[in-house]
Amino acid sequence: MITSFHPPQRTLMGPGPSDVHPRVLSAMARPTIGHLDPAFIDMMDEIKKLLQYALRTDNPLTMPISAPGSAGMEACFVNLVEPGDKVIVCQNGVFGGRMKENVERFGGEALMVQDTWGTPVSIEKVRALMEAHDGIKALAFVHAETSTGVRSDAQALCRLARDYGCLTIVDAVTSLGGIELEVDQWGIDAIYSGTQKCLSAPPGISPVSFSERALEKASNRRTRVPSWFLDTNLVMGYWGGGQKRAYHHTAPVNALYGLHEALVMLQEEGIEHAWKRHALHHEALKAGLETLGLSFTVTADARLPQLNSVQVPEGVDEAQIRARLLENYNLEIGAGLGELAGKVWRIGLMGSSCTRRHVMLCIDALENTLS
Ligand code: PLP
Repeated sequence: MITSFHPPQRTLMGPGPSDVHPRVLSAMARPTIGHLDPAFIDMMDEIKKLLQYALRTDNPLTMPISAPGSAGMEACFVNLVEPGDKVIVCQNGVFGGRMKENVERFGGEALMVQDTWGTPVSIEKVRALMEAHDGIKALAFVHAETSTGVRSDAQALCRLARDYGCLTIVDAVTSLGGIELEVDQWGIDAIYSGTQKCLSAPPGISPVSFSERALEKASNRRTRVPSWFLDTNLVMGYWGGGQKRAYHHTAPVNALYGLHEALVMLQEEGIEHAWKRHALHHEALKAGLETLGLSFTVTADARLPQLNSVQVPEGVDEAQIRARLLENYNLEIGAGLGELAGKVWRIGLMGSSCTRRHVMLCIDALENTLS
């Protein structure tokens, strides 16, 4: 007979999910109530406020999509791209490639800005493309490329988009909670994130936020949004505000308790403190890795503190090292993705996995395993 599943106790230092704090796990074990229960609706309003806090926005359309980061990505593109729309898509890793897929699947034309993996999006290349084409509707880019560990200058890219009168669609799956992110101040129009990275909440939920300009585009389309589930005009009947909510779908009630608790913890710490904590422990990890003779893929000026892409030394079987870390230390680090598969390890310092204890364990385990 199949019996209950008891997962091993791992330490998660890969590209996500990160360790979920016991407070969050215990919040998820609280009694399930109805997704239209007045008490649940009050909690939904608190989640919206807490997400607005984390994203630094007053956008009324700020909510968690009941599906993973990929659905948040799709929600942005499906609502904001119409057939024939020209969208500049920046690709410097795996996730920019998915943005291109989204634009094309919804009938748009993706004008690509390609940059070498491990380097930030080139502002100059984006500017040149904006100059060369009329009627560009949106600029889409990944703030923190999880596949390489590089940070792009979201503020400068959004400023550029504003200068040319187009919307911005920003992937903040790995950036939210780990590095500075200012939705309103930078003028971001549509943003999506994930709960399993620097928020350290359970995976499978995707916070999104739309500016007034993005909402205007989404509600004045020539064509119907080709997804029923992700149509913001419909979802907002449930997530909109006030006690009067229309049933749209059955929300993942207990997972949302978890997100609520994780966001309460972020608020207790203070978002700016969380950014500083990620920077601090990254410095410690970097010092340790360098002592072991390991080097980074990304130059220091564009490196993400929460996702450390480290070169696998010559002659080392990278998969075997990861397997031994898991077996001997219950420690998960990530493999390379796409072009970087087999060449790098991705060491995450995200949310609850960004502590002194994590840094010490990782360096100690790597030292013993590599020698
Ligand atoms: N975008 C980025 C930058 C990511 O790192 C990820 C996941 O790692 C996604 C999108 C997709 O998120 P999910 O796996 O939650 O669907």
